[in-house]
This record gives sequence, structure tokens and C-alpha cells, in this order.
Amino acid sequence: MKFGGTSMAGTERIRRVARIVKRQQDAGHEVAVVVSAMAGETDRLVNFCREANPLYDPAEYDVVVASGEQVTSGLLAIALQALGANARSWLGWQLPIRTVEAHAKARIEEIDAEALIAEMQKGVIAVIPGFQGMSEDGRVTTLGRGGSDTSAVAVAAAVKADRCDIYTDVDGVYTTDPRIVAKARKLTNVTYEEMLELASVGAKVLQTRSVGLAMKEGVRVQVLSSFIDDDAPAADTIPGTMIVSDEELEGMDMERQLITGIAHDKNEAKITLTRVPDKPGAVANIFGPLAEAAINVDMIIQNVGRDKGETDVTFTVPAADLARSLDLLEAAKETIGFNRIIPDTNVAKISVVGVGMKSHAGVASTMFKALADRGVNIQAISTSEIKVSVLIEEDYTELAVRVLHTAYGLDAVEA
Ligand code: ADP
Ligand code: ASP
Ligand code: MG
Repeated sequence: MKFGGTSMAGTERIRRVARIVKRQQDAGHEVAVVVSAMAGETDRLVNFCREANPLYDPAEYDVVVASGEQVTSGLLAIALQALGANARSWLGWQLPIRTVEAHAKARIEEIDAEALIAEMQKGVIAVIPGFQGMSEDGRVTTLGRGGSDTSAVAVAAAVKADRCDIYTDVDGVYTTDPRIVAKARKLTNVTYEEMLELASVGAKVLQTRSVGLAMKEGVRVQVLSSFIDDDAPAADTIPGTMIVSDEELEGMDMERQLITGIAHDKNEAKITLTRVPDKPGAVANIFGPLAEAAINVDMIIQNVGRDKGETDVTFTVPAADLARSLDLLEAAKETIGFNRIIPDTNVAKISVVGVGMKSHAGVASTMFKALADRGVNIQAISTSEIKVSVLIEEDYTELAVRVLHTAYGLDAVEA
């Protein structure tokens, strides 16, 4: 069982979480619980680091930001004990959850679950802070923002759990963010592949890496709400959304829509380089330095060459990497040979995702037409087998998501 930040925000909510956990144990399950820091706490801790020194040491950043989860895991153990349960917290370094050393973006290598399983078999509820691990040299590491989902899936895989229930502040995965589109519909099932794609293009309900890990390890994941009454249907009745394999889905959901969901991402920035020489090697000169700095370039357009053998190149990078990208490109100006750099942070990426796309034509054109009808201009396009993304002006994000939700027939019918 994993509980996110909103579910853990304050002792009142932690007591409710304790009741949900206790109920699962009373139903005969052995349970391990992974918790997030209280909502807003990690942001607060990150800010302290920035204030102390904008060029902080990532290893010490990890020491600071991992503390949020230490607090909530202890508090949940206390709340469980108050209900008469036998509960114990295990911090990342105690378990241990071994990670690679990359501070602030560590990857889990292995979890030593033997002691944990032994305790669980004795009836102890294990409470584990998400987001944190231990590096080879014994220092605290963290997994990157939203990483508690990944901790939960990793623990589930390590103890060979029947299921990994991810409790959050919505009651499942919806066709789009239910906070933006009131008519969003809850999905009963989503495939790993679709969830992976949805998460990677901005549906923050699950961290992308957690979905990839669940897929690889075959962990059964359910997304469900922690904001429930004590007499709400138990998690075992699958009240939330199950992430399933393609094979499982076949035969289950005959009436699946062509498009599963729509996601948006406001954390991208657009960069245009003007008058780049239109010759072999030019693009390699642009993206080489960015790749070396581990900056992820997403959408790329190279315009048709103009006269004089020059062309404009436009691409997107994570907004957080914009300043660094501009620096690197300026430094490589001679080699690349461009005229001007034009950065733009007022952009958003809107994506439609669905496995049905593999076998159906016309998905992209529906998207382009629906946006054109509302006067929304498309600045860049990228596609994969099961996804089409467009870059638009940020101010139109909510409008675009709503319009597409309707265009693909995803709106819930009013009761
Ligand atoms: P937690 O703190 O529990 O990890 P998050 O805030 O990370 O929760 O994720 C839950 C949020 O994800 C929801 O409140 C919702 O606004 C957002 N969200 C975005 N896209 C979707 C979607 N397709 N379905 C459900 N929730 C979504
Ligand atoms: N508390 C961490 C964060 O906000 C990890 C998590 O909640 O998943 O990123
Ligand atoms: Mg989250």
C-alpha cells in the first residue's frame, strides 16, 4: 500500500490512513506501507537547499529532502500502534534500499527484503518512507520527484506482493486530469504501455519510472483513493483503476475507445535557433552538447532550408534545463553557426494516447482539426506508435485538453 502526499498531510489524515491499513491487515493480508512526505513538504525542503546555496551539493540535498518521508513514516507507525497494530518503520538505509549513487535522481538496484518478509509474517506492519534509498557508500539518496510511487512498486516486487495499491487523492486513473475536465471518466483498466506513455507526457498520477518498473517486474498496480469512509468498499474489490497487460485487457473491455487519455505538460520550454547552416552535421552539433549534459530533448523540427543554405531548428527541453541549455548553445555558437537563439517558456505539450492508434488512421488529423476549429495554433508535433503530441501556447492548455476530450468522444455522459 502506498499513500501520497495529500493523503499524508497532517495527523488527522494519517490516522485515516492507519485505519485503511489496519483494515487490510484485519482482512487477513500481510502488509507493507510506503509513504510520501506531507503535501508541500518536499517543495519546502528543496527551497531551503536553494536558499542555502543555489549550487548545492546533491548529496546533502538528499539528506535534507529525504527527511519529509522520515517524519511521515514514523507518524504512521505511531498511528497504527494507537489502533493496536504491531507496526515498525524501516528507513531506506535500514532496509536497505540500495540505489546507484546518482544523488537526487538515484535508481533502485536492489532491495534486501528478507528481514522485512520475516517481520511481516509475524504480523508486523512495515512502514517504509518512499523516495529514499542508500548509495553504495552508505549515504542517503533520493529517487527524483514523485519517486515514492517507484519505491512502492520496488518494495512490492521485492516482497512478491499480490498487489501494489497506490492510494492518492483521486479514485483512479481518468481519461484526463479530473481537476481540469469535469467530464473526465474514470478508467477501469489501463495497460502498462498506455500508462507509461500517459505518465511520460504529463499525467502525474503515477511517476513514469514506477510504471516501467511495474511492467518489467509484473507487479499488479491499482490506483485508488485514500479519501474514503471507513465503510467504503475494500481495496480487494478493485474500486480503483487496475494497470493490466495487453493480453489481460483483451476480452475484458470490448467497448474500449480508440483514445485512452489526454495529458498535458507545462514544464517544457521551446528553443529556436535561426539560420543554422543546412548541411550534414549541423543538427549533430546542436544536440551533441545537450546530450552530453544529459538534457532530454523532446520535440524537434527542422524547417525547410531557405535560400543561402540556411534553416531554422526548433526543439523543446524540460523548462528546468532551459538556462543550462541556452548556456551550452551559446558556448557552441561558433561550431553550430546559428544567428539567434529564441527561447520560449510560454508553451505546453498536449498529448493523446491510446493503443487503438496502432490500427486506426486519422487520430492525428482529428486532433489538428479540433484545435484549428478553436483557433489554437500548433507549433510542433511528435508521435509514437500510441501517442500524438502537439506543442501550443500555454494559455490554451485547458481549452485544448477540453476540446480534444470532447472530440475523441471521451466525455462522461451526464447521469
Ligand atoms: P500523490 O501525492 O498521491 O502522489 P499526485 O498529486 O502525484 O498524488 O497525483 C495525483 C494527481 O494527479 C491528481 O490529483 C490529479 O490532479 C492528477 N492527474 C493528472 N492526470 C490524471 C489522470 N489522467 N487521472 C487521474 N489523475 C490525474
Ligand atoms: N515527496 C517526494 C516528492 O514530492 C516523493 C513523492 O511524494 O513521491 O517528490
Ligand atoms: Mg505522486
